[in-house]
Amino acid sequence: MQERDGVILEQQFDILIAGAGYAGAVSARALAEQGKRVLVLERRDHIGGNAYDCLDKHGVLIHKYGPHIFHTNDKRVFDFLSRFTQWRDYQHRVVANIPDPAGGGKPGWRLQYPVPFNLTSLEEAFGKEEGKKLGDKLIAAYGAEKKVTILELRQNPDPEIAALAGYVYEHVFVHYTMKQWGQKPEDIDPSTTARVPVFLSRDDRYFQDACQGMPLEGYTKMFEKMLDHPNIEVRLGVDARPVLKEAEGPIIYTGQVDELFDFKFGPLPYRTLDFAFETWRERDCSAPGMPYPDPDHPLRGDGDFFQTHATVNYTMDEDYTRITEFKRLTGQELPGVTTIVKEYSRAYTGAEGEIPYYAIINPENNALYAKYRAEADRNPNLYLLGRLAEYKYYNMDAIAARALELAERL
Ligand code: FAD
Ligand code: UDP
Repeated sequence: MQERDGVILEQQFDILIAGAGYAGAVSARALAEQGKRVLVLERRDHIGGNAYDCLDKHGVLIHKYGPHIFHTNDKRVFDFLSRFTQWRDYQHRVVANIPDPAGGGKPGWRLQYPVPFNLTSLEEAFGKEEGKKLGDKLIAAYGAEKKVTILELRQNPDPEIAALAGYVYEHVFVHYTMKQWGQKPEDIDPSTTARVPVFLSRDDRYFQDACQGMPLEGYTKMFEKMLDHPNIEVRLGVDARPVLKEAEGPIIYTGQVDELFDFKFGPLPYRTLDFAFETWRERDCSAPGMPYPDPDHPLRGDGDFFQTHATVNYTMDEDYTRITEFKRLTGQELPGVTTIVKEYSRAYTGAEGEIPYYAIINPENNALYAKYRAEADRNPNLYLLGRLAEYKYYNMDAIAARALELAERL
């Protein structure tokens, strides 16, 4: 038995895992079921990583690190997670909230249409007749039900399509992307804006994956069940890095790779988020700061809700990118009170308490990451897994799939 920084590292574990988010928890469970004894060290005081949810002081189930909607086409991942949770059938729908010079006929009213921008959005933006005409033209060019990225659409030489692409770029992409990344859509990795393509369809869901839903009792409960196995021990509030040096068997590391190597090649750039949680009560709905004081406003929620949709994207104005209302995601029934979150994105500086949420994918940063990766590869016992450790823009299902694959390989 060895003591390192207050942590007892007993030698009775076959595998050490740093981090109890999707990467750590899914691989821990899969390895435990192979008969491996697994020690999971988690720096935070809770499991679940960025998918962690909990009740706020008003009793609303919130996602502490930003709204998470589960969606996948990977049946294996869905079946695996479904062993630890039932699902609330939930299809995510998002609208863009856009300043409307015409005011929808009333002061303060705004234009709103589905995002991803689709055939319905076209009609909302250009009127039924013109919208339909443009929609038919797009379908003739690309095909019905096709997804076309904004960067691809902007390449189209047809003047009418080019003008439309310009409209969508201006009203949906450029300001939102500047807020989120501090850069224009054409200057960030194309796969990022491709996540939200123009969709030549009437399907107004944000995702088209076959399996979508929210864990019925929340993500944290799902993680609790996943980690509840006689071969798994979880220790919270423990930084795994000092312990890793002492470990003799395989290590799965799911934290920041630059931090793991003491930033020896320099820090990897990330974006962080500030979350502003606000709790609203029915009686507050005409209070200052309420964006939809008019009871007939098309985006105003009725009764116990703040807004009509789980997420409203502010694609042109405001400093935040989007507002999400948790009760609309989770289906929690809690009369008279609701909690929303506004997301503000900025550069990650590494200051105490900041969380690196998004890797900034570009050739220069990928090259820096490759140096850290090469360093990690010198230790045949070290496996980098997860959004931070792999410096990738992975969704939850992708990480779960990679964790299952790694567990199989080990
Ligand atoms: P994380 O969840 O970051 O977990 C890593 C864990 O490792 C953390 O708990 C951390 O504390 C711990 N750790 C780090 N270093 C150490 C150390 N040295 N010692 C011990 N522990 C350590 N995906 C979707 O599919 N749908 C969504 O709707 C969605 N929404 C998102 C919204 C936001 C705002 C963000 C930021 C992400 C969203 N994602 C979404 C992505 C999702 O969060 C990730 O795919 C997932 O959380 C990745 O899991 P992970 O285990 O790789 O990383
Ligand atoms: N995006 C945008 N306008 C929107 C929605 C998305 O410009 O209304 C762009 C933006 O660059 C964003 C990217 O598409 O970062 C991916 O959006 P997604 O909703 O997938 O981001 P996430 O939920 O991961 O933050």
